[in-house]
Amino acid sequence: ESTPAAPSQPKVRSKGLDVASLWNEEKSKRKASAAFVVIGHVDHGKSTLMGRLLLDTGAVSQRDIDKYKKQATELGKASFALAWVMDTGSEERERGVTVDIAQHYFSTDNVDFTILDAPGHRDFVPNMIGGASMADLAVLVVDANQLESGMKGQTREHILLAHAVGLQKLVVAVNKLDSTTPAWDQEIFRSVSAEVLKLLKQTGFTEENVAVIPCSGLSGENVAKAPAASSGAAWVSKEHPTLLQQLEKFAPHLTSIDTVKKPLRLQIADVFRGGITNPLSIAGRIKSGNVQVGDSVTIQPSGETATIKGIEVSGEGRDWTVSDDIPTLHLVDIEPQHLRSGDVVCSSQKPVKVVKNITAKVQALDSLLPQRVDIHVGRLHVPGGISHLVATEDARGETLKKKPRIVKAGQRAVIRLALDDGVPLEDGDRIVLRTDGSTIAAGRIEAISL
Ligand code: GDP
Repeated sequence: ESTPAAPSQPKVRSKGLDVASLWNEEKSKRKASAAFVVIGHVDHGKSTLMGRLLLDTGAVSQRDIDKYKKQATELGKASFALAWVMDTGSEERERGVTVDIAQHYFSTDNVDFTILDAPGHRDFVPNMIGGASMADLAVLVVDANQLESGMKGQTREHILLAHAVGLQKLVVAVNKLDSTTPAWDQEIFRSVSAEVLKLLKQTGFTEENVAVIPCSGLSGENVAKAPAASSGAAWVSKEHPTLLQQLEKFAPHLTSIDTVKKPLRLQIADVFRGGITNPLSIAGRIKSGNVQVGDSVTIQPSGETATIKGIEVSGEGRDWTVSDDIPTLHLVDIEPQHLRSGDVVCSSQKPVKVVKNITAKVQALDSLLPQRVDIHVGRLHVPGGISHLVATEDARGETLKKKPRIVKAGQRAVIRLALDDGVPLEDGDRIVLRTDGSTIAAGRIEAISL
């Protein structure tokens, strides 16, 4: 496709705001915010549960759900009405484009939440790594009737990846308890909880950062509302908060003024083209710094500059946005081919470096040799190779063996990676290494070189 020459845009001017000071003044008045990713095996009820959260917090109206129900019934899939809220992301509906990481918003009196949802594509895992990298916490959905499949395959891999990208807090929703035999069977809940907890601990999650909540997305019991005292689910409220209450408990608000003042870094999660008022937009989470309308920014690795024409956070227009926000930025003065998911929007004064060689400290999940790997850093993935096994280390970071011939599953090691292409990365970034569709190591970048 060829894009016709863009008509000359009216110049966007910066108001020259002192964003860090504005944010500092406003932050005590702002609600806490938290973004979470939804993970778990297909069909365990992720979309239905999220649809329920959106409905019961008023983010989606009963009228919308009734409309979906009618459409779903006509297709003989009435039980999917709530799930449809998620299947068509808000961005998709508004912009008529597909997205890799859909965002949905809901609020309580205390917290503004963003759901990050990587719809089940062919390319699900890279998207899931991308979504999880932007999240503060994860919600793992497990079907109470599927103890077996729940503990294998996708559930196991998603837990591993959530941990690998650095997520520490996780809420397990033991779902579909309305349909156990008997309904709301406490024994079933207990055995599923025990199995999931075991798996989470093996992966490295600590008990204080994990909560297990019994619920039913379909009936709505213990999602945003406690079950009726008369129902078989009465035991639930005696021992457990609702899913929503638990999410509020785990919701952090970590942004510090130091981070807000650092150079801008935003890894692009999605690029949107072809909008009528905003032909070119990107979305992602701000890792550090701040940005305002009118700013000129640099996109890496292309090194091209762009001007910020507009900013939206949680679907609302803003003059500025800071670290930890997940804005959509409308851009002008740049050609679309310079913007791809995984690229980094950064300060033009201090752009992120484009690197081809990295040293990383990793935990091996499978044996590592000098070999080809796919390197994932958030939304970015690039092929490359393990060029050196530098050393294996013990848990305190003391060297066990220099230049080992192999790193065995479970060991910690320092390794060097040579990437096929230059990509924008920094010290401290979390990396995940995969080959042939399985995750073989995860860790952090220790050093970079061109
Ligand atoms: P996903 O693939 O994990 O997003 O799962 P969906 O939300 O699409 O649900 C898969 C199927 O499970 C659908 O038929 C849902 O109606 C059904 N389902 C989801 N949640 C519940 C629940 O809490 N109870 C019961 N009984 N069925 C549910």
